[in-house]
Amino acid sequence: VLCVSQDFDFFYFVQQWPGAYCDTKHSCCYPKTGKPAADFGIHGLWPNYKDGSWPSNCDPDSVFSVQEISDLIGRLQKSWPSLSCPSSNGNRFWSHEWEKHGTCSESELDQHDYFEAGLKLKEKVNLLSILKNAGIEPDDGFYSLDSIEEAIKEGVGHAAGIECNKDSAGNSQLYQVYLCVDTSGSDIIECPKLPRGRCASNVQFAKF
Ligand code: 5GP
Ligand code: 5GP
Ligand code: 5GP
Repeated sequence: VLCVSQDFDFFYFVQQWPGAYCDTKHSCCYPKTGKPAADFGIHGLWPNYKDGSWPSNCDPDSVFSVQEISDLIGRLQKSWPSLSCPSSNGNRFWSHEWEKHGTCSESELDQHDYFEAGLKLKEKVNLLSILKNAGIEPDDGFYSLDSIEEAIKEGVGHAAGIECNKDSAGNSQLYQVYLCVDTSGSDIIECPKLPRGRCASNVQFAKF
């Protein structure tokens, strides 16, 4: 059967703060390659529609193949580490992201280009330094959501969606940052639709 990949309007490029993934009541597991750097890591590059809905698992015939991205493994381990348990080398996370999200943008990016696009976006925008330059650091301190949004808008040139989760004590904390990207996966754009955030007005920036 010949399947036509579904169209989409833009990508969310989602980065996660490892400190906030690891200090919840689920906790986390470091990758087999060791504790990741104290930096934002890539969660995924997610095709989306302007109305806020999104396609998923678009092509069951396109299985994840580590051979296709063998030249990117070192960079993926550094910038796209998996912190879920049990410990892994990343393949399970990348496979999940490719099959759930990447297969929905195959009209634009094949598997190699999909992962490379994520890596290049991460290199283009250094969120941690943008925040640090605004005095916002992962020191377990609390910062206003407004100040975080303002710093990223200033540093990136476009507004971001901020998602929070709760640490094991129930504090709202900075967990993920969503930037919007054009359908080629290369340029940050103004978000057609910002994701829902679930942040309190003051949020913790956890140490990692
Ligand atoms: P959560 O319920 O933790 O916010 O999201 C669970 C999963 O749903 C995410 O890992 C992601 O795969 C998917 N997801 C959540 N929100 C969005 C969204 O706005 N766009 C897309 N494409 N996927 C999303
Ligand atoms: P999503 O479906 O939201 O795109 O991705 C979430 C899925 O990826 C979950 O099933 C989760 O177990 C898995 N996963 C593996 N490593 C990570 C990680 O480091 N962070 C997050 N958020 N999910 C991870
Ligand atoms: P997933 O779809 O990611 O397997 O799991 C659903 C939810 O459980 C995710 O939104 C994620 O926040 C949480 N989760 C799954 N595995 C882990 C884990 O190992 N550590 C943490 N902190 N959360 C997890």
